[in-house]
Amino acid sequence: MKVIVFSTRRDERASLSQAMADAGHDVRFEEVHLNERSASLAKGYDAVAAFVNDQLDQACIERLADMGIGCIAMRCAGFNNVDLHTAKEKGIAVVRVPAYSPYAVAEHALTLLMSLNRHVHKAYNRVREGNFSLDGLVGQDIHGKTVGIIGTGTIGAVFCQVMSGFGCRMLAFDPTPNVSLEEMGVQYVAKEVLFSESDFISLHCPLTHDTQHLIDASALACFKPGAVLVNTSRGGLVDTQAVIQALKKGSLGGLALDVYEEEAELFFEDYSDRVITDDNIMRLTTFPNVIITGHQAFLTHEAQNNIAATTASNLTDVEMKRPCSNQL
Ligand code: NAD
Repeated sequence: MKVIVFSTRRDERASLSQAMADAGHDVRFEEVHLNERSASLAKGYDAVAAFVNDQLDQACIERLADMGIGCIAMRCAGFNNVDLHTAKEKGIAVVRVPAYSPYAVAEHALTLLMSLNRHVHKAYNRVREGNFSLDGLVGQDIHGKTVGIIGTGTIGAVFCQVMSGFGCRMLAFDPTPNVSLEEMGVQYVAKEVLFSESDFISLHCPLTHDTQHLIDASALACFKPGAVLVNTSRGGLVDTQAVIQALKKGSLGGLALDVYEEEAELFFEDYSDRVITDDNIMRLTTFPNVIITGHQAFLTHEAQNNIAATTASNLTDVEMKRPCSNQL
């Protein structure tokens, strides 16, 4: 298959080149994001490979269809940026990588939670400047605290397993409870109960119409004072303006983000010598109790290799007209 890869990152090029070559696909790499304007680059190709911040809306997919693209291969689990309805209407197969490493994301959520709770981000800079003072570095034991998990699918379940080792109470909210987690001690409760009783809340549900701004001003008003919020799922789950207000008031004790609702123009790019015009993210970076990473939760060698291999085999399944379990 002739495949054009959009939003190519330097870190994924080697694994993707290898997997595509092994599968016999002919690949061109482009760094540009896929959207209505850049879609014309796909002329002459059979398939596009896209990523989290590509904009596969109706206009983009219609352009791809006009050029004869038969497959959109998402190199990620989430597909909130793909207009599946239009793709179906145009007969374009959409495939994804549903579970390349739930451990990578769950472990990053824990990394953020622990770093924020124990002020590792501050301590790192302090020590480099010869400041060994402990002022302002007091954290809290996670042991004995209540951790709220929203979404207990593949990643949320691993996060529960990881957290169970801390000896904490675990509350979960998911429309489809997981019995094996209940057997492990996870207690499914109403969202409001989770909000009001959790010391740490971690989001692991997809971004959908229903979950857009799941954490808004009214949800934050129910939070236990001083609670810490971790979002490694999708930026749109959190109303950024509302969390800024809660941080300013001091009602939200800390915020750790790997995803951000306006990340599409920013993340995966180097802006270190340019002016960032997004005032919300710049405001967030000024809080001492906020940690942000740029959508790197998935970024482990194991995950990269799985993403590359699954993307290549998804494309082969579509090419051979075989049933593909990763087709949406
Ligand atoms: P999954 O489909 O296995 O699990 C999602 C769970 O969320 C399901 O159990 C579902 O029932 C639940 N859910 C659906 N609607 C809900 C709601 N309104 N409230 C609470 N729970 C709800 O998905 P997954 O593989 O565990 O991934 C979860 C999310 O993590 C993905 O949608 C993606 O957005 C994100 N993700 C982020 C990264 C990263 O690098 N930061 C990497 C991979 C995935």
